[in-house]
Amino acid sequence: MIIGILALQGDFIEHIHMLEKLGVKTAEIRKPGELDQVQGLIIPGGESTTMMKLMHSFGLIDPIKQFAAGKLPVWGTCAGLICIASNVHNPDSTPMETLGLMNITVTRNAFGRQVDSFETTLQIAELQDGPFPGVFIRAPYIEKAGKGVEVLAALPDGRIVAARQGNLLATSFHPELTSDSRLHRYFSELIPV
Ligand code: GLN
Repeated sequence: MIIGILALQGDFIEHIHMLEKLGVKTAEIRKPGELDQVQGLIIPGGESTTMMKLMHSFGLIDPIKQFAAGKLPVWGTCAGLICIASNVHNPDSTPMETLGLMNITVTRNAFGRQVDSFETTLQIAELQDGPFPGVFIRAPYIEKAGKGVEVLAALPDGRIVAARQGNLLATSFHPELTSDSRLHRYFSELIPV
């Protein structure tokens, strides 16, 4: 099993390090053909509009859509969550194109300026052994989880920050910036062997 990490922009190296720690093989994905060698894909945190532009230039939009349609697992963290969402609300209302894989409506840069970045503990359904460290950096949140979407975690005010829809996983926060590898293990276990 090899997990691909979209390596156009953002914090892909940290995902690779986390998976290596778990003994999972990884491959950096920059070209469409490289998707043929992997059975799962992580779209990392970074800047979602830049990442979407780069996916266009590298011819990756349709290949990633096909990858997800083939039921192989795709996980978007933070900016990656925005890229896989079907609908995005920008604070300034500018429309944004995405991959449109997951039936969620997401609000970008959703937290006020003084809490642009924060850490909090999260209870994540499906994870054993206590709360998970949530590292939020100019994070989006899931405003609406549509049909078929299971909510995995929310903040105390009810804002959804982790969800799954079959082979698709979305987290607003950055597990790759912590030393807790449980979500990376959970994702690797979604991959059919
Ligand atoms: N604010 C970024 C965006 O909208 C996401 C931030 C992140 O990935 N840490 O794309």
